[in-house]
Amino acid sequence: MSKRLILLGAPGSGKGTWSKIISDEKGLAHIATGDLFRAELTAETPLGREVKSFMEQGALVPDELTIQLVEKALTDESAVNGFVLDGFPRTIPQAEALATMLEKRDKAIDMVINLVIDESILIERTLSRLVCIKCGQPYNTQNMAPSVEGTCDHCGGDVVHRSDDTEETLRKRLEAYRKSTAPLIDYYRARDLLVTFSNDGPPSDEMRRRLFSIIDGAKG
Ligand code: ADP
Ligand code: ZN
Repeated sequence: MSKRLILLGAPGSGKGTWSKIISDEKGLAHIATGDLFRAELTAETPLGREVKSFMEQGALVPDELTIQLVEKALTDESAVNGFVLDGFPRTIPQAEALATMLEKRDKAIDMVINLVIDESILIERTLSRLVCIKCGQPYNTQNMAPSVEGTCDHCGGDVVHRSDDTEETLRKRLEAYRKSTAPLIDYYRARDLLVTFSNDGPPSDEMRRRLFSIIDGAKG
């Protein structure tokens, strides 16, 4: 079984949703850089103040800050037995820093799951999505609403619309994705780590089975 996974994909491709499903089912740490940055923002830490304008504009946070954040999360006890990285790496230098971090600990990435989704669905999905501010669980007003409006099914936290989920920032985030993140598809394919998962609908049992058979499959 793969224990060190990366979920790759455009904004709104379902990285958060599937990372949570995988990490819950497999007992792996869920490391989502967007959630970690949002927590810093909410707590108004110095790092939070530093990343605020990048996030609000839909730009990538500089590599150095992002790499430091991930290094800290990876050294946490909870990540020792494996993890799902959600939203990291997003650039080639981040991928290289990650490989170095893991090498130092005699570890390596087992698998990179590339979530593929039609761009027209992606925009619609992102504009209608909601997120729990406490645990990061994604929701969607269209087909994945919380049972009680505004309240997280998992932790009871407030479920809100993300301030960076607007048409304007989404356009910028998609640009950043195409320019800086999409090259990671070839990067990981060249290292024989890439698998592709088509994610055009809300999570179904059939998709769940398909994904877990990939994760538990030959590459583990
Ligand atoms: P999404 O995948 O929907 O765009 P995330 O929650 O993963 O949302 O990220 C939100 C924002 O956090 C990004 O637009 C960016 O500003 C910042 N961010 C998250 N992860 C990274 C990363 N690996 N490198 C740089 N910036 C990041
Ligand atoms: Zn929650």
